[in-house]
Amino acid sequence: MKTRSIEVVVPPREPHYVGDGFRVHNFIPGAYRLDMKRMDPFIMLDYNSRFYFPPTDKPRGVSVHPHRGFETVTVAYKGRVAHHDSTGGGGVIGEGDVQWMTAASGILHKEYHEEQFSREGGDFQMVQLWVNLPAKFKMSPPKYQGIPNEDIAKVSLDNDAGLIEVIAGDYNGTTGSAQTFSPVHMMNSKLKEGGVAKFSFPSDHNTGILVIEGSVVVNQSESVPTDHFVLFENDGTDFSLEAREDSVVLVLSGKPLNEPIAAHGPFVMNTHQEIVQAINDFHTGKFGYLEE
Ligand code: MN
Repeated sequence: MKTRSIEVVVPPREPHYVGDGFRVHNFIPGAYRLDMKRMDPFIMLDYNSRFYFPPTDKPRGVSVHPHRGFETVTVAYKGRVAHHDSTGGGGVIGEGDVQWMTAASGILHKEYHEEQFSREGGDFQMVQLWVNLPAKFKMSPPKYQGIPNEDIAKVSLDNDAGLIEVIAGDYNGTTGSAQTFSPVHMMNSKLKEGGVAKFSFPSDHNTGILVIEGSVVVNQSESVPTDHFVLFENDGTDFSLEAREDSVVLVLSGKPLNEPIAAHGPFVMNTHQEIVQAINDFHTGKFGYLEE
């Protein structure tokens, strides 16, 4: 058991819009040293920090677009998103829910603020991650896992410190509900003021946290405010969080795939040739059909 040290605390960059519904700070790839390899298998992380969207009759969002070669994972903290894809998958996720979509061989989807939420307006806060797929699964069939909060395993911490919601992977023997194609741990740490949580992941797993709400002290030394990402070194296994106030922290740790990455927009494959194939397949209708 060796402490995993902090490599860097990364502040949120200037936000930009994805479509007209997602006002995101991009952390991966691009911020600090967070290229597509540094947090492998997490190859993209966009974060819509808490933001008020006024009422509208026309739901904001992102229109139909393709993906191939990876999984998109959306973790909702505030507001509601509706999703539809070309396999017939779809649903609405709201506060505390997770959507885990395996694009794999190819999917078309669209993501919009849910209708009633759009009409009423309100605070919106979400994370979208892209989790890369091992080469051997990149062309497997697409699938969709909608994971409502009540289906997410929860671990109560000692001393009434709070709880850990295990989305994927494992926390102290409790397994998350999402099925993954490589070792990935993803959880929300919901701590009360003064509460402490300890985490342990193999040192070769790339590991980071995003402070969603409140602020925490990491490893009893570094105070990290809301909307900041902590990138850990791969020099140890264990780290701790102590909540300075009621806090929510997204914890990510994954075994790197260590495979070549060829990325072009919504396609992430291993070779340039596979990217050319993906573009051809998309333009010749092989990703199916989805109404705008
Ligand atoms: Mn998408």
